[in-house]
Amino acid sequence: MLNDTNYLIRLDDASTYMDFDKWNTIIEICKEHGIAPLIAIIPKCNDNEVMFGPEDIDQFDDFINNCLSANCSFALHGYTHELHNTNDNIIDVNQYAEYTGVSFSEQKKMIESGFEYLESKGIQDRFFVAPAHGFDHTTLAVLGSLSKDVVISDGYFNWPGYSDGLLWLPQQLWRPLSKEKRGLWTICLHPNNMTKEDISAFKAFIIKDNNNFLDFNFVANQEWKKLSYLDFFLSKMRIRWLKIKKFIIILLT
Ligand SMILES: [Zn+2]
Repeated sequence: MLNDTNYLIRLDDASTYMDFDKWNTIIEICKEHGIAPLIAIIPKCNDNEVMFGPEDIDQFDDFINNCLSANCSFALHGYTHELHNTNDNIIDVNQYAEYTGVSFSEQKKMIESGFEYLESKGIQDRFFVAPAHGFDHTTLAVLGSLSKDVVISDGYFNWPGYSDGLLWLPQQLWRPLSKEKRGLWTICLHPNNMTKEDISAFKAFIIKDNNNFLDFNFVANQEWKKLSYLDFFLSKMRIRWLKIKKFIIILLT
């Protein structure tokens, strides 16, 4: 059931090179508290920044099967996660991307191969999480051309909605944070980089707000309106404000 304030948990950068101990700890915490997060998977990781050990395909397959049995949702998170510089991301969080600026045919190949990889692991979900929030209008055209309905996790909106023929579930927080404001809040975490203290804070947060967590498939199956130009404008302003706040904090510390 939708509440006034709702949370989704998204976990980025799962791959055959991930930090299995940290991920397994976090999945166990989620299972213990009845939370089914979204696992964003890099099919063929080739980005040193998100490689945390030697490749371990068997352990990765066990991890996926454990998450499938815990009713987690899954997203495609790029193909190799290799990033290049760009100023053309629709969601302007970073100045780099894997998809942005790449041709339609190349992006289609990356995205189709990515979803095929997920299917080879027994995953049918069609959630889409672009590395570094980096995607452009060509990416949206590719996603719209696929046979199954793709759902994007991105954008600083209050509620989900449709744009470019695709459902967008907003993503606004990068650490566990209680919100008073009505809305659907997606908290994006990077388990590979989380410290023991981060994991404890996450556990304390989900115990405190336990009634307000939803899962991605439930949210994607609700009725949502179209997102407006104002929604995208406000998303842009909120992200700009976050960057200014970050800059001020750096100046003051
Ligand atoms: Zn990533």
